[in-house]
Amino acid sequence: MTLPYEELGAHWRSVRPRPAGRHLDSAAASRQTHRALEAAAHHARHEAELGGYVAEATAENLLQQGRSVLGGLVGMAAADVVFVESAQAALRTLLSGWQLPAGSRVACLPGEYAPNIALLGAAGLRPEPLPVDGIGRADVDAVGRLLAGSPPRFVHLTHIASHRGVLQPAREIAELCRDAGVPLVLDAAQSLGHADVDLGADVVYGTSRKWLAGPRGVGMLFVRPRVAAELVPLLPAPADVPPLRAFESGEAHVAGRVGLVVATGEHLAVGPEAVRERLAALGRRTRELLDGVRGWRVVEPVDEPTATTTLRPPDGVDVVETRTRLLTEHGIVLSAIGPERAPGEMTGPVLRVSPHVDTAPEDLEALAAAL
Ligand SMILES: *Cc1c(COP(=O)(O)O)cnc(C)c1O
Repeated sequence: MTLPYEELGAHWRSVRPRPAGRHLDSAAASRQTHRALEAAAHHARHEAELGGYVAEATAENLLQQGRSVLGGLVGMAAADVVFVESAQAALRTLLSGWQLPAGSRVACLPGEYAPNIALLGAAGLRPEPLPVDGIGRADVDAVGRLLAGSPPRFVHLTHIASHRGVLQPAREIAELCRDAGVPLVLDAAQSLGHADVDLGADVVYGTSRKWLAGPRGVGMLFVRPRVAAELVPLLPAPADVPPLRAFESGEAHVAGRVGLVVATGEHLAVGPEAVRERLAALGRRTRELLDGVRGWRVVEPVDEPTATTTLRPPDGVDVVETRTRLLTEHGIVLSAIGPERAPGEMTGPVLRVSPHVDTAPEDLEALAAAL
């Protein structure tokens, strides 16, 4: 049985360096294209030739196009986009600018990413659980009641978790938040380039290296003007740029930003909808193939429209050791995720399989055989 958009998978593979093994770890970091790698290298060379700041000025048109196309992915304008160093840096930047009163309540998933909970706490905010079902998916009706009853200062929703390939009903929650006048902050670290993120959130943040397949060390923060007006920068932005730019990191790996812009252009050129459809089909195939193999159990519903699958180990099998064995003996790259990643939800470690569109059924069959 073939998967949809086979030619997209073949193209995606053909424009990248050949993988040393089987790369099933895009939720950690994807493989970049030759063009993205060369664009970053070219910029770094330009810095040596022209001087770092002169080179940055020559790249500004490209970076501005990048803000524009990245903003388009989340339904925002270039003026609403700033580059930072990571998704975590984006959340830290948002919270430090927002300066909400200590003790302000923030609703987030019980399975929230532990570093996000820590950042909320460090900003003096009080995380409270959103109502969810048995798999950790937000219960939209119950969220509506929560927002009507005692609305939090904002809702923080992680669109797809790093420890579980469940797609949250972000569009529905964005609508409820809009009706209730409660800002929605969306962690799109696992969903940009993977799922539709143009959903009406007030703030979105993400990272370059995961599903968009850009370089490491680059993150993005997107803020609608309504929330941007509430942010207080350390120093105001220069008069000739949008005010949000005050939150863009000044000293940065500009070459990485250039690489991300190229990677984003390539993502748009192959077609985000085709990518999403093929990733969802790969997720389904992964779950069908792996559930029950040697006693490993898939956590996600088989038809969840994401490419991320997590597996609970059979009794007595160590997940970290399994991950190491798959890498060293079979050349299969994937991740072991411990319960400390999301202590409010995970009861034990899982093995995470996150193929990008170039994965072939044979790669998944090789994983099943190696398990
Ligand atoms: C990876 C990840 C982050 C953090 O991204 P960085 O770029 O490493 O800071 C945040 N949230 C989720 C859900 C993630 O998967």
